[in-house]
Amino acid sequence: MILGKTIFLLGAGGMGMAALARYLSHRGYVIFGWDDFATEERKQQLSYIDWTPKIPESCKTVIYTSAIDADHPLLLSAQKQCKCYLRGQFLAQLLANKKVCAICGSHGKSTTTAYLVHFFKYHNIPISYILGAEFQNDFYTNASFDVGAQWTLLELDESDGTMELFSPEATVILNTDWDHPTHYPNAEAYQAAFERLCTRTRRWVFSEQPFKTQGQLQTFDARGLAQDKIAAECVFKTLTGIETETKDASTFPGIKRRHEILLQTQRLTVISDYAHHPEELRALLNSFPQNATLHVVFEPHRISRLNQFFPTFVSILKDVKNLYLCPIYQAFEKDQTLTRSLETALPQAKTLSDLPCDGLLTQNTPTYVVFVGAGNVDKQARQWLQNLKQQIQQYAQENFISLTVDQPLKQHSLLGIGGTALAYAQPNTPESLQKLLKFCETLHLESYIIGGGSNIVIPERYDGLVLQLNAPYWETCNKLAKGTFEVRAGCFLKNFLDLAEKEGIGGFEFLDGIPGTLGGALAMNAGIHNLGILDKVQYVTIMDRCGNKRELQQNEIQYGYRTCESLKDYIVLSAVLKGEPSTPELVQNKRKALHNRRLNTQPQGKSLGCFFKNTDLGSTGKLLDQLGLKGTSFGNVFISPIHANFILNKGHGTFPDVLKLMRYIRHKVNEEVNILLEPEVRLLGKKWEEVL
Ligand SMILES: Cc1cc2nc3c(=O)[nH]c(=O)nc-3n(C[C@H](O)[C@H](O)[C@H](O)COP(=O)(O)OP(=O)(O)OC[C@H]3O[C@@H](n4cnc5c(N)ncnc54)[C@H](O)[C@@H]3O)c2cc1C
Repeated sequence: MILGKTIFLLGAGGMGMAALARYLSHRGYVIFGWDDFATEERKQQLSYIDWTPKIPESCKTVIYTSAIDADHPLLLSAQKQCKCYLRGQFLAQLLANKKVCAICGSHGKSTTTAYLVHFFKYHNIPISYILGAEFQNDFYTNASFDVGAQWTLLELDESDGTMELFSPEATVILNTDWDHPTHYPNAEAYQAAFERLCTRTRRWVFSEQPFKTQGQLQTFDARGLAQDKIAAECVFKTLTGIETETKDASTFPGIKRRHEILLQTQRLTVISDYAHHPEELRALLNSFPQNATLHVVFEPHRISRLNQFFPTFVSILKDVKNLYLCPIYQAFEKDQTLTRSLETALPQAKTLSDLPCDGLLTQNTPTYVVFVGAGNVDKQARQWLQNLKQQIQQYAQENFISLTVDQPLKQHSLLGIGGTALAYAQPNTPESLQKLLKFCETLHLESYIIGGGSNIVIPERYDGLVLQLNAPYWETCNKLAKGTFEVRAGCFLKNFLDLAEKEGIGGFEFLDGIPGTLGGALAMNAGIHNLGILDKVQYVTIMDRCGNKRELQQNEIQYGYRTCESLKDYIVLSAVLKGEPSTPELVQNKRKALHNRRLNTQPQGKSLGCFFKNTDLGSTGKLLDQLGLKGTSFGNVFISPIHANFILNKGHGTFPDVLKLMRYIRHKVNEEVNILLEPEVRLLGKKWEEVL
C-alpha cells in the first residue's frame, strides 16, 4: 500500500526514475527527489521533481533504484521513518489493478514501447505509459497518465529481478540474449525469468519465441533492428484492433540515443546508438549498406559485461576497419576487475582522437560515423560533431565564402518556431549565390531558400545550407516601361506595392497585406481566392542548383492555387510584373479597403496566415470553425479564436507542438467530412507527407 500523497525518489535523475516521477505527478502525487549525480541542468529539465537532499517529514514512501548503495545515508535514514521500495517493487504494486502491457527483453524495449506510445497518440487513443528513455526533441513526454486510457504501457526492466513481481495483462518479450551476469549467473537463469513472466501473464504474450503461457501466444517474425517496429505493430493491432499503415511508423519521432541521427547530409550520416550488449551491437553493425564506409566509435559498458561476453565482442568488432575505442564506462559497478583488454584483442583499433573530421563531408561514397555505447559516448559524439562544424566554417573561410554554422532559424519564420541550420548564408549578389551553390555541391549539402519566412514551418534541425536573399542587392524594384516593374527576389511585397501605387499602376492591390518577399510570393503563387501573383508576371529569372541562370516566360510556368510546380526546384532571382493603368488615389483606396478587411478578420500574433488550403467545401477557416476547433491548443500553439485556419504561437511553441496540432486538425476533419486537408504552409527541407 502506498502511504500518503508525497513520495521521495532516491536516484531521481536516472531515466527510469525520471519517467516514474512524471507518471506519479500526473496521477496527483507530490514528488520530492534527490540524485547525487544529477547536474543542475538535469534537475531543471525534471522540473516536476522538487529537489532536496532531505526527505520531508510529510513523506512516508521512498522509492530508490538498484544503483543506490545499501549504506547510502539517505536510504538508511529513509528506512527508519518510511516505507522503502525498489523502483520495480513499487511499480508492481502501483499498477496491480491496471491493464498493463509490459514490454521487456534484453534490448529494444525502449524503442518498442516508444513506437507503441506513438501509435496510440497518432491515432488519438488515450494511453498511459512509463518509458525508460526520452523522445527526440521532447516530441512526447517520457511518461503519462491519462484517466481515459484502457492500457498502461510499461517498459519492464529485468536487471534487478523485480520483474518477478509483475503479472501483466499482456507481455511483449523481444529477445532473451543473456545479460546482467551479476544478477543472472547464466543464460538459462536469464531465460527462466522470462518464462516465469509468461506463465504469470494473463492474456497475451507477444514474442518471437514459443513461450508457454496461460493466455494466448502471438508470435512475430523479426530479429535485429526492424524487430522493435514490427513487434509494436503486432501488439498495437491486437490491443486496439487497428492495423497500422506505413505512415504510422514513418512518422515515429525517434528516441534519444537509439539509432539517433545527429547529422545527415547527402553522403555523411552520424549516428548515436545505445547498443551495449553484443547482440545489439551485431544488429546495429549489420544494418549499414555493404558499400558504405563505416567508422565505429565503441564504448564498452560495464566491466562485468565486457568480461562475460569478451569473445563475442571481439568477433563482432574484429572486421571493423575504422574502429575507435573509448575507455570502459563502469556505471555503478565497483568491485569488478577487467580480465582481458579489447585494445590488445583488436589491434586495428585507434582512440577517439584519431577519428578524422576533415574530408568526411567531401567523400563521394556513403559514409557512416557511428558512436555506440550506453555511457558517455553520446556526449563525445556531440563534441566531435562540433569539431566537424568548425571544419565547415574553416573550409568556407578558405574559399572566401561567408556563412555561419549552427544558425538558429526561429527568427526567420513569422511563427517564431524552429531549430538550427547546419549552415546559413546571405549572398550579396548572384555571383556569391553561385559560389555558395558550388560549395554545397562539393560538401554534398542540400540547400533551401527562404524569403520573409511568412509561410515556412521550420523543424528542429536542417542539415543543409539555408540561403536568404536579403542583402541590399536583392531588395530593389524598378519601374520599367508600360506599367511593368522589375522586382528582385528579396524585395518585400509591400515595398513593391508602394512603388506601384506611387506610379499609379493598378492590378497588384490584391497582394496588399500579404507579408513576405517577391521570391516567396512567386514560389507560393501568393494571392487571394483564385487570383495569384503569377497571373501578373511577364517573365521570371531563375537559377538552378548548379548556378545556371535562365528566364521563364509566363506561358512556360505551370502554376495553380497557392502552388507553382515550375519554380519548385529553382531559386527565383527576379521577375518582371505587368500592371494596369490607374491612379495613385484609386490604388490607395483599393489597398486600404483590403487592409481594413484583413484587420477585421485576421488575428495578430506569431502566425503564418492560413495553414491549410481551402477545399471543395470552400473556406477551410469556416470548416474548422464549424467543427468547433477554434481555441484548440497543443503545448504552446493554438488555433486562433478569430480565424480557425490560423495557428498561433503563444511564445514558446515548438515544432512538435505544431505537428501535433496539425495532425489533430487533419484527423478531426477527416473523421467528420472525409477530407484530408493539405497544408498551404511549407516545411523547410522536407515534404509534409514525410511527417504528417
Ligand atoms: C498574417 C499573414 C497573412 C497571410 N495572408 C496571405 C494571403 O492572403 N495570401 C497568400 O497567398 N499568402 C498569405 N500569407 C502567406 C505568405 O505571406 C505568402 O505565402 C508569402 O508569399 C510568402 O513569402 P515569403 O517571402 O515570406 O516566403 P517564405 O515563407 O520565406 O517561403 C515560402 C516558400 O517560398 C520559397 N521561396 C522563398 N524565396 C524564394 C526564392 N527566392 N526562390 C524560390 N523559392 C523561394 C521557399 O523555399 C518556401 O517554399 C500570409 C501570411 C501571414 C503571416
